[in-house]
Amino acid sequence: MTHDTLSTLFELLPIGAYRTTPAGVQLRANAALVRLNGYASEAEMLAGTQALDKGWYVLPSRRQEFKDLMARQGHVVDFVSEVYRHKTRERIWVRETAHTIRNSAGVVLYYEGTVEDVTASVQAQQNLADSEALWRMALEAAGDGVWDWYPDSGREFLSPNLLRMFGFEPGELPDAAAELDRRTHPDDVAQMLRDREAHFEGQTPTYMNEHRVQCKDGQWKWILTRGMVVSRDAAGKPLRVIGTHTDISKRKQAEEVIWRQANFDALTGLPNRRLLRHRLEHELHRSDQLNRPLAVMFIDLDHFKEVNDTLGHDCGDVLLVEAARRIQGCIGPTGTVARMGGDEFTVLLTDVEHGAELPLALQQRLQAVLSALSGPFAVGAGDVFVSASIGVALCPADGDTPEALFKHADQALYAAKGAGRNRYRFFTAAMQEAAQTRLRLDADLRCALERQEFEVYYQPVVAMDSGRVYKAEALLRWHHPTRGLVGPSEFIPVAESSGLIVDIGDWVFRQAAVQVGHWRQTFDPEFQVGVNKSPVQFHQKAALKGSWMDLLTELGLPGKALAIEITEGLLLDTSPAVTQHLTSLRASGIDLSLDDFGTGYSSLNYLQKLDIDFIKIDQSFVRNLQPDSTDLALCHAIIAMAHALGMRVVAEGVETEAQNKLLLQAGCDYAQGYWYARPMPAAEFDVWMRERPQATQ
Ligand code: C2E
Ligand code: CA
Ligand code: CA
Repeated sequence: MTHDTLSTLFELLPIGAYRTTPAGVQLRANAALVRLNGYASEAEMLAGTQALDKGWYVLPSRRQEFKDLMARQGHVVDFVSEVYRHKTRERIWVRETAHTIRNSAGVVLYYEGTVEDVTASVQAQQNLADSEALWRMALEAAGDGVWDWYPDSGREFLSPNLLRMFGFEPGELPDAAAELDRRTHPDDVAQMLRDREAHFEGQTPTYMNEHRVQCKDGQWKWILTRGMVVSRDAAGKPLRVIGTHTDISKRKQAEEVIWRQANFDALTGLPNRRLLRHRLEHELHRSDQLNRPLAVMFIDLDHFKEVNDTLGHDCGDVLLVEAARRIQGCIGPTGTVARMGGDEFTVLLTDVEHGAELPLALQQRLQAVLSALSGPFAVGAGDVFVSASIGVALCPADGDTPEALFKHADQALYAAKGAGRNRYRFFTAAMQEAAQTRLRLDADLRCALERQEFEVYYQPVVAMDSGRVYKAEALLRWHHPTRGLVGPSEFIPVAESSGLIVDIGDWVFRQAAVQVGHWRQTFDPEFQVGVNKSPVQFHQKAALKGSWMDLLTELGLPGKALAIEITEGLLLDTSPAVTQHLTSLRASGIDLSLDDFGTGYSSLNYLQKLDIDFIKIDQSFVRNLQPDSTDLALCHAIIAMAHALGMRVVAEGVETEAQNKLLLQAGCDYAQGYWYARPMPAAEFDVWMRERPQATQ
């Protein structure tokens, strides 16, 4: 390249270029440098300035720095300083590059260099820094803490508010990202890292995450963090991330309260139906993966309703809490115990033995629950006793969906209760069949009245002293089109659960009323028929009640012609519908019999309150009557007590002469049972009465 081309290049350079003496005397300045200093031509500039660097730097010390660098290394690269334009004294920012030119002897001849006006970019940076400072101030003022993180070095600056949020004073924690990460709740770390990574990889416009941070005093605070990568390297790796921390502990606490309310039972603190179902679904999924069996237990407290009704809800609550504690104690931490409502509990067990059809360890646990619940409960003034019935369904043997397991555990529970309570039952296919039979019965029952498939049988009730028969009990029979004669024990519970018992009961009452009218004319003007009435019928609307009385009036019968047989449980029911119903029965002169006495939650004070006319001693006491037996002692006691209260006693299920004799000796008023006669159709009853010698009495 010739000297001329070099000169041309020098002139045309877009940035300033110069040559000076080491002392700073300007020898050459190109057009760009002339312009930078505010002159019109090189001549004007050379005339106007002696030493270019004098009065050039806004900070005079920069001049010495520049000179020292040149002396020491022979060159200066990217030396950025604020300087004055020579002519106008206006302040600008420049970046200088320079080197020394020496002769062969090493003596410095010139300085040569370039000067670039970088004012615009310096100002831009300055603006950025200013706005960042403002932004931080704004965030801090809003109560948020600010963090400023440099992932490469691991340095992280935490603002004073952020530090105070966790109980630290500014300066108390080192400026390191690890400090906060270390204090993050272990359960929250994984999600935090995932959210962070998603933003780093550009999948989310901002980084957002909720996590817990441990404060200086050891407590946990819920934090919402929001941040953004503000600078990346050429490869896109984040160099700097800025964000805020907001304390959301209050919101989280509120959410937690709502969550607890939605998933836990307030009384016992146990998981509720919803959470149990959720866990069951989860465990079913896992048990499928791990090929591990599960057990679902339905636990129902026997006679809880009676406790609740007699001692009040507060005592009932105390009992439930204690029952929950005992069940939990037997199940241990590996199972979930939930309260489904009322006195129903459900247990989910995940550590059931493999293979066995009736796992032994599980049976021991079930037995433990039964024993725990049959112990006394210190409730109210004294001890109260309940027991429990348990139904168990196993997964996968009995089902692998919540619906199937719940349904089958429920059927097993039903069987446990049917077998006499205070026991457990594993689900069997037979129970499923029984349940299906109940469903079919229910469907068939709906048309049974219309198709006139029902018939009322009558069983004589004999006066023990005279042998006279002027009472009978009406017992319903169903002539099923395909199954033949179906007993009431089989279909009454089905009719009760569907509500059909109301219509059926009205029909029985009408039959009995018409029949007793007939017998009052043919056999005895005092004749009385007892009609069983299910508790479900007592919960009916008031409108239906009148019709029974109307019917009696229509038939010209006094109330005394009929007795209504109720069970002990009903006496404890204090609901207005039941009380009203009982009162109006009494008002119409109908007698009240207390059926199955001794099997329920006996509370004698209720007998007095409701002035009951008859007590029917349950068959289970009569069945085992022996001289000197406990049952005989009980019969004596019941009879004495009933007489003291002005009530008369009927013994049910008298099957032998011996039983009859013992009851007679005990002072029992009436007897009913196969020893005298089985229940029979009305026409047969007529015959039986006529053939009976006492009938003519
Ligand atoms: P319950 O009221 O206790 O009726 C007495 C039951 O004992 C009757 O059973 C009767 O046949 C049976 N029985 C009578 N004497 C003897 C005996 O010496 N030995 C034995 N082992 N059993 C005897 P049934 O007729 O099968 O009725 C069963 C239950 O069905 C009745 O028990 C009653 O609770 C209910 N029931 C019957 N008819 C009606 C009805 O019209 N309405 C309602 N709501 N329930 C009814
Ligand atoms: Ca009865
Ligand atoms: Ca009975």
